[in-house]
Amino acid sequence: MQINPKVPSAIAQSPGSGGQSNRGQNFSYNPQDGTVMSPDRVRLEGVEIVGTSVSSQQVRLKDGLLPVDGAYVYDPDDRRYYAANAFAAVSKALDVFQKAYGEPIQWATGRARLDVTSDAGKMLNAYYSRQDGGLFFWHETDPRTKEVVYSAASGEVVAHEAGHAILDAIRPNYFSAWSPDPGAFHESFGDVLAMLVSLKDERVLEKVVEQTGGDMSRPNLAAALGEQLGRTINHTAGKNVTGGDYTRNAINKFVWQDPNSLPESGPPDQLTPEVHNFSRLWTGAYYEVFQGIVQQKLTQGISAKDSIASATDESLKMLARMMKTAPEGDFTYKDMATALIRSENSGNAGRYTPLIEKVFKSRKILPDSSEQSLRASDLETPVGSRTFHGILKGDHFGPLQGCKISTVLSGFQASVADESDYQLQRLERDIARLYRNGDILLTEPNQVVTTDRLFKPNGEPYVGVVRWIDGQMSLERVAIGH
Ligand SMILES: [Zn+2]
Repeated sequence: MQINPKVPSAIAQSPGSGGQSNRGQNFSYNPQDGTVMSPDRVRLEGVEIVGTSVSSQQVRLKDGLLPVDGAYVYDPDDRRYYAANAFAAVSKALDVFQKAYGEPIQWATGRARLDVTSDAGKMLNAYYSRQDGGLFFWHETDPRTKEVVYSAASGEVVAHEAGHAILDAIRPNYFSAWSPDPGAFHESFGDVLAMLVSLKDERVLEKVVEQTGGDMSRPNLAAALGEQLGRTINHTAGKNVTGGDYTRNAINKFVWQDPNSLPESGPPDQLTPEVHNFSRLWTGAYYEVFQGIVQQKLTQGISAKDSIASATDESLKMLARMMKTAPEGDFTYKDMATALIRSENSGNAGRYTPLIEKVFKSRKILPDSSEQSLRASDLETPVGSRTFHGILKGDHFGPLQGCKISTVLSGFQASVADESDYQLQRLERDIARLYRNGDILLTEPNQVVTTDRLFKPNGEPYVGVVRWIDGQMSLERVAIGH
């Protein structure tokens, strides 16, 4: 992978090498999950230490931490291990993404550094909150194993949450969209990034080669995300709600269906409009492209290990390129798939365009008739965005009737000025679904809404919250990804 010297780096080029800089610090780090791989350590460069405070140019650990024998490396049972791993895994995810992206990102929080709180308390959760300026990890007891599970212990979970912060930095308007696709893409972005970051680790790579021999359709620990958290979720629910010993798995066969036609809940093999659930379709498609790249390399006689390593780098570049041309506001999976093809054509000479088209057509994210190519207009770069405003009308909105709503439209949607009825209908349909599903937090005038109120009893954040401005209700999107 090309290294851009302008990108601030918190990671040594060669972990554990000792390096040219004596400012490097060793940290506990598990790129995977404690239930499938033991923790190791990583050497981070550019770490600023003042007393117990640990930070870099872009990340700040909120927990105070003192080194042991000159290193931030602790026993996995030691509370300090979670803090060290959270800082290391955020730094690593950021570094891997920025190298592919080619430029440093600015957090949507408005602050120079993303705050990382490795143990915010008792809850089976982990999340990014823009208004709170950072990432928060929690702990909970597994009711079956009786272990206390810390979400900060998993490099995959930490990288997923860092993915929310990174995507919010690049495309803040995705957290102003009400349709299922942008929210689901937020989840998928975190999962894909976590998977690719973990594959950049030599131990993970070797394990995946051992598990797959290069056939990436076989189950492997990189495709399975958040194994420990997933197991605890299933133990807590008393049944298998995730589909296996993982939170989500990139190996799946989901095919696109209009999210508004899907049931609100179902067994693990049922696609629903809930963002984590619906994200599995995009992740599955992206993984299938990755799998196809590995396969192409194998047929060229490249070893399984080198094929996976090089497909990982290419998939990271592909992800970063796609984000440069991605819609700026509300979008559908089809819009994002055309952005992927557009960026592959312009930035990589269309090398993997046939593979991408094949996968996304078979998943029905793109029109699947072989004669029906994408229209030329689909592949033009959509530019700009426009904020659309409306007011909710109708009894079915209950107490939300009369509430102001808005969303940011992208590209072609934004350029069509006179589509008010169509846009309002789309918005009303999405908000009616969220209201029915209890995803909107109703408030009283002058009520102070603290971040803890933005979560439902089941730990999921509300999608929208009613704010009152001069006696007028206004629906605001909650900028939390979990
Ligand atoms: Zn998430």
